[in-house]
Amino acid sequence: MIRLLHDHSLLPYNTFGIDVKAERFTEVVSEEALKEVLSGSQDQNRLILGGGSNLLFTRDVAGLVIRNGITGIELVEEDEASCKVRVGAGENWHQFVLYCVDQSYGGVENLSLIPGSVGASPIQNIGAYGTELKDVFEELEALDLEDLTVRTFSARDCEFGYRDSIFKRGAKGRFVITRVILRLSKNPQVNVSYGTLEQELERMGVGEVDIRAVSQAVINIRRSKLPDPEELGNAGSFFKNPVVNEAVFTRLKTENPGIKGYPLPGGEVKLAAGWLIEQAGWKGHREARCGVHERQALVLVNYGGASGEEVRRLSEKIRKDIRTRFGVELEPEVNIF
Ligand code: FAD
Ligand code: NAP
Repeated sequence: MIRLLHDHSLLPYNTFGIDVKAERFTEVVSEEALKEVLSGSQDQNRLILGGGSNLLFTRDVAGLVIRNGITGIELVEEDEASCKVRVGAGENWHQFVLYCVDQSYGGVENLSLIPGSVGASPIQNIGAYGTELKDVFEELEALDLEDLTVRTFSARDCEFGYRDSIFKRGAKGRFVITRVILRLSKNPQVNVSYGTLEQELERMGVGEVDIRAVSQAVINIRRSKLPDPEELGNAGSFFKNPVVNEAVFTRLKTENPGIKGYPLPGGEVKLAAGWLIEQAGWKGHREARCGVHERQALVLVNYGGASGEEVRRLSEKIRKDIRTRFGVELEPEVNIF
């Protein structure tokens, strides 16, 4: 029996803590229930919600909001070196990482403590500390909203990029991801290429650096640097790190000798957006009920009661200022509705 709620508040369902309403709202826990809801609905506008940790609502949502609660972790293949797991889209990402660490399945430990659902992890190819979802991704199952057929997407089909995939571009809003299949290593090599991670492991004084130690180090760093959405509304990094060509980086380096740039394959350079925002003086800036976090300039925060429109306006001011000062365009990473 499907329960449709009308004019339902989305406040508990988004980590920014924005109080908007969904015209209609339901939660599904199986593929069958999802199909039943969709086939019985006249709504043209349908929004799929996971943990609500990468979106900003700027108005009430017309149509149907479906919260994905499909759970389950199945081991579908295993050999000496690796295993393949099929995970329900509604599973909590961090709980899944902890499950992998407990089973000694390596590959996702650098992605510890990222909020949200497994189903949203391919949407922006989640990444942290030198690891991206695509490094362990095999395929995903999704329901096509146009004709309610089940589709399988390989890594190639997903067109993964830096905090990007086809689901943020051409296929935006068209598919409901129901299951994600990942290949994890049984003889994992740890990746501690990020200086902060190496420093934290050293501080922890662990003998052997295994995936459990890496996961714990990532958790420690994140807890010390990032605002907990339970205490202060936010959606993580509001902007993506911009990627510029070598000529632009040379110009920026001449004008700003302290600028941070990370070379990418192909000659382009990734800039740290947080550094640009901090240099421009926005870190800790507060504007009425929202602001820029005091320890992490890339994170916009809701001090309580801010509207999505207020947060969006602040983000536009920051973008304009960075464009004027550095000639660099910041793109929002957060999905704005
Ligand atoms: P939601 O916010 O619910 O949805 C995001 C988008 O995906 C929306 O467009 C939604 O419609 C769509 N969507 C969600 N589920 C599905 C589905 N099953 N099928 C189809 N479409 C769907 N991100 C990183 O990459 N790296 C980080 O290190 C990181 N750190 C963060 C730290 C904090 C404190 C916070 C608040 C956020 C952070 N994020 C990070 C952003 C966010 O956690 C991730 O992008 C996460 O994958 C979003 O998952 P979600 O379930 O909350 O997605
Ligand atoms: P940080 O370690 O202070 O580094 C600042 C920026 O420099 C990061 O954005 C990172 O890019 C880049 N960087 C640092 N060392 C690098 C290296 N060895 N090689 C390539 N790039 C490097 O960053 P932080 O803000 O504390 O975040 C730590 C990690 O968590 C980062 O990977 C970040 O993406 C992730 N994170 C993401 C979100 C989100 O919402 N998306 C929120 C919080 C943290 P990358 O961002 O490309 O890694």
